[in-house]
Formats: sequence, structure tokens, C-alpha cells
Amino acid sequence: MTAMDATLPAPVRALAQADFSAVARSFGDAGFTVAEPADGILTIRRPGSVRPAVVLSVGVHGDETGPIELTAYLLDALAREPDKLAVDLMVCVGNIGAIRAGKRFIDADLNRMFRVERGALAGTAEAARADVMIAATVAFFADAGPQRWHLDLHTAIRPSVYPTFAIVADLIEPGAKRALVSWMGEAGIGAIVMNPESVGTYSFYSAEHHGAAGTTVELGRIGTLGQNDLTQFAQASRALDRLLRGEPAPADVAMPRVYKVARNIIKLSDGFTMAFGKDTQNFTSLRRGDEIARDGDTVYTVQHDEELVVFPNPDVRIGLRAGLMVTRAD
Ligand SMILES: [Zn+2]
Repeated sequence: MTAMDATLPAPVRALAQADFSAVARSFGDAGFTVAEPADGILTIRRPGSVRPAVVLSVGVHGDETGPIELTAYLLDALAREPDKLAVDLMVCVGNIGAIRAGKRFIDADLNRMFRVERGALAGTAEAARADVMIAATVAFFADAGPQRWHLDLHTAIRPSVYPTFAIVADLIEPGAKRALVSWMGEAGIGAIVMNPESVGTYSFYSAEHHGAAGTTVELGRIGTLGQNDLTQFAQASRALDRLLRGEPAPADVAMPRVYKVARNIIKLSDGFTMAFGKDTQNFTSLRRGDEIARDGDTVYTVQHDEELVVFPNPDVRIGLRAGLMVTRAD
């Protein structure tokens, strides 16, 4: 028995099962160098030319299926006219074990494993999977030119004041960051959070270690594979397609609102409680002095006139981020 629905459209079922055979054959026949360095990872390069290098990752959280559908249709269309691909591309289906099981993760959150220090999580299935993804990413960027992108596509597990938003590694070189932010405007991303330090995410890893314009993009709401409302991804899909085909960017796009991290709220003990539940909307506004959380004797309160809460989740493991407090930066 598999959790995968046999009635799924073929490209979606193939990508969700990390089956790249049709896509690989098409690009291979067109003279590209195609490789599958690991289960769920496909690289397509044009030998003898320096092109932008793009990592496109989906399913890092196994239950976030919308980007798998979006990417499956994009790849399927590109594979029908492979010469239109204008970048070197690595497609990574992240937590393939969890996707196959229809779960968010097997043992622990894969998107916290992209750092040296894994503590008690070192023996998890996700730590092993992160090692495989890191090795493939190192190899992909090793010979890449200066233009490097990593778009890690997710969907949010709770409603948001901004239906689409992104977390951007602040250490990206300014020119590349401008291009990335402008692409996000084109993709209809409503807000971005400039993040100064890693919590172990895949896209921050690529930015920090490979000089990639890396971002974790939250595209609309979580849904069941094959049943996602793809209209919520339409603008991001167009922007992604345009990037992969190397077509000129549109001249005037609405720029995302920019926020910066005020503080990570880290859960330090079992006594941790939050003043609001994990169903709280992302970017809910709090005022100076409002309580955020309690951890034993420590009470966290809002320090700025306004802070907004992103990813509130008191149920995370001890030592992990239970919420991100952000302030306006523009
Ligand atoms: Zn996610």
C-alpha cells in the first residue's frame, strides 16, 4: 500500500515518487548532461557554457504538496521544449520518505538539519537525508558560475495576513539580493523577512555556503497532493517559468513588503507556553508590552512599538524556534 493516489496526473505522481525518468530522457535526448546524484535529485546542465545555476527544492516538508504539483507541471512543459531551459537546474524533492508516507516528516523537521550542530537529532532519518541533499548541492554549485539561486518552495500550515511570503538570508550579496527580491515581487510574494542567522534551513545553507540567492518561499495553504488549488500558485509559477527560460524580467512589479527579524523565540523547557496558539495567523501584529511567551520564570514581551509573529508553534521540540518576531524594515 502506498499513500500515493493512483488517479494523480502522471507528471505529479512521477515527481512525488521522485521518478524523473520521463524528464531526464527528454533533456538527455536534447543534448543536456542529466544526472540523478541521489534519490529524488535531478541535475540538468548544458555542457560547455556558464549559465545561471538554479536549485529548485520542493517537499522539504512532506505534507506541503502544492509546490510539487506546480513544479511537476513546469518541468513537464519544459521537457516538451527542452532547448528553452536557459539555466543549469537542480530539482530536489526533499523529504521523499515523508512524501511517500503522506507525512510532514518521519522523525524530525528536515528544514532544521542544514547545520553542523544537530544534537539529539543526529540519528534521525532527516539528518541522513540532509547529508544526501548537502552532498548533491555541494557538487551542483562546485562548478557553477556567479549567478546562483536556491528557491525552496513550501506552503504555510496556518493562515497568513500575507498569503505568500518568504524568508531571505540577509547575508546574500546585495546585487543578487536585489534580483531575488525583484523576482519575488514578480512571483506575487507579499512580504519578505530578512533573516540574519540560520535555524538550519536548506535555503540559508545554500546562501551561506554556496553564495546562492537563497530563500524559503511560503506559497499559499497546505493541501492534499492532486487536490491543491493551483490558482493560488499561478503568479509564482509564471515567475519561475520565466526564470528557468531566461526570459527578460517584467519592468515594473509590485515589491514585497520587507520585514527584519527582531527576535527568535526559542523553546527552552517543557514549561514553555505561548500567549497565542499555533493557529494564529502569520504576521499577526502585537504591540509593545504584549506578552509573547513564558518559559519557566522568563516572560517574553514585545520590545518594539509593533512586532509581528511568524511561524508561532509552541509544540516544537526543546531548543527549536517556537516563533519568529519581525518588525517593518521598509
Ligand atoms: Zn514547509
